Amino acid sequence: MSDRTDRVRGPLAPSTGVQRPLGIDDVEIEGGPFGRWQRINREAGIPLGLEQMEKSGAVPNLRLAAGEGAGSFQGFRFQDSDLYKQLEAVAWEHGRLPDDGYRAFVSETAALLARAQRPDGYLNSHYQMVKPDKIWTELEYSHEMYCAGHLIQAAVAAARAGLGDELPAVARRFADLLVQRFLVDGDDAIDGHAEVETALVELYRLTGEGSYLELARKLIDNRGRGLIAETGLGPLYAQDHLPVREADTAVGHAVRQLYLEAGVVDVAVETGDETLLACSVRRWEDLVATKTAITGGHGSRHDGEAFGERYELPPDRAYNESCAAIASIHWNWRLLLATGHGRYADLIERTLYNAFAASTSADGVRFFYVNPLQRRADLFEDAYLGRRREWFACACCPPNIMRLVASLGHYVATTGDDGVSVHQYVPGTIRAGGITLAVETDYPWDGRVRFTVRDTPGGEWTLKLRVPAWSAPGELTPNADGYAEIRRDWRAGDTFTLDLDMTPRLVLPHRRIDALRGCAAIERGPLVYCFEQIDQDGDLEDLALTPDSRLRAVERDLPGVGRTVLIEADAVRLPPSPPDGLPYGGPPTSLPARTPATAVAVPYYQWDNRDGGVMRVWTPLA
Ligand SMILES: [Zn+2]
Repeated sequence: MSDRTDRVRGPLAPSTGVQRPLGIDDVEIEGGPFGRWQRINREAGIPLGLEQMEKSGAVPNLRLAAGEGAGSFQGFRFQDSDLYKQLEAVAWEHGRLPDDGYRAFVSETAALLARAQRPDGYLNSHYQMVKPDKIWTELEYSHEMYCAGHLIQAAVAAARAGLGDELPAVARRFADLLVQRFLVDGDDAIDGHAEVETALVELYRLTGEGSYLELARKLIDNRGRGLIAETGLGPLYAQDHLPVREADTAVGHAVRQLYLEAGVVDVAVETGDETLLACSVRRWEDLVATKTAITGGHGSRHDGEAFGERYELPPDRAYNESCAAIASIHWNWRLLLATGHGRYADLIERTLYNAFAASTSADGVRFFYVNPLQRRADLFEDAYLGRRREWFACACCPPNIMRLVASLGHYVATTGDDGVSVHQYVPGTIRAGGITLAVETDYPWDGRVRFTVRDTPGGEWTLKLRVPAWSAPGELTPNADGYAEIRRDWRAGDTFTLDLDMTPRLVLPHRRIDALRGCAAIERGPLVYCFEQIDQDGDLEDLALTPDSRLRAVERDLPGVGRTVLIEADAVRLPPSPPDGLPYGGPPTSLPARTPATAVAVPYYQWDNRDGGVMRVWTPLA
């Protein structure tokens, strides 16, 4: 199968756009947090995931569908999607560092899927084994197209990682069935969980088959027209309340909305539909301004795993599903490629280092599904709060995390018409169109990033470096897109050093976020910080920051956490207030006694690697 956007060995290969992505093998990550995450993903995460594919029933279910095993179906109706995301993770990991074991897993699994697939191309072990008479009849919650989407994305990864045609052939048979039923035969149904749209566009990019793009466009245009049957969760839940071109704010199930947006941008880019792109950008601006956690997380409500209303951003009840962080990165990456604007790379960075990175333990084998910004002492809430876990009954997050970590190199740099743009600062090597750059940095612990040109085709070209919104630009004046442009007749051996401002910052919330009023948080570079009880002298709940708290960065190697930079903050300790009647009263007649104290903050992504104690990102200001 030939890739019409050949040479891009990564998840996304748009045929047009301001920036062109690089493949995962064009960027070698050598150290830093990204390098560490890739190493533990390979050594610990993916092996755990492969083990779970058997234990959780994902592979045994497909054996049943192939008529090969005994027992009964296990898990959810979307259980197949765990396996597809695991396949995608393995494929990208193979593309990064080839491995015969990975090749065998993809090949054997593709063969199993081919045996389980019906002659007409349909493939879903739950519906084949449990509800064969309900196929395509309960799309409001069946996830049949959602699972097809993850199969297609795994197949695209296999094709681009050089893992043969077996998996792509299975995916194409299913995609062709979708085209026949939902495009050619005119069935107007859509899936309750968006995902297949972005996958179909990528399959179009891989194969050049226009009907996949046509179907993706139709599915997007059909959403918001009441085609999804009532599930008791209401039309907002699945973004079926308004046509995509009319909706002005993100609503409902956060992961569904964000995967939908990825598909919207993909279709807009491939069809040249500027108004469709503009409506996604409009929702992005609203979402960032009113519904985004400081960590980049999305989803304020446990009920429905959903977005809240504007400025509804509770720290303790925040849902911030790990999958929502991944979907947000997917959407922002598409917008960055389409427009070249650095604000999308800024949000990718914020999300990667905070909402996303916090999902995984330092040893790579425990995961959060929900990523709140505060953990109280009681810990009685839902089982998904509390501590990270090895796996989940609904295991959408762990294999999703693994596929993103394996493909992180794709999100570092791009090429445009005139050189190389660097969006994320990681030590390693970037190869782009005859240009090879070595990147040396201790980012995000240190703000210095040194580029050395190892190879150049000759002539002038521009090195574009993102100047994050949090950093004072210093001597570099970023362009309107947020990038410093260094245009030169570069020669091999030339260097350029970028210095970003890593002074710790006190950050205050917008006044309309009621749940955070009177609180402050700490950031340094791209990292959001939190306080954990284990690092404090005395009760964390009695500590407060002040508007002029001095913040000091201190490098440490913490047992269980690893290398880090802590922030020591000048704070005050307020008197403990034991329960005494209602927790309300009139204005105080005098200020409470306060004593000077030091509060110690750790990067949010490194929390919950020691004990299960109290944690908070947002801390009262005294
Ligand atoms: Zn998830």
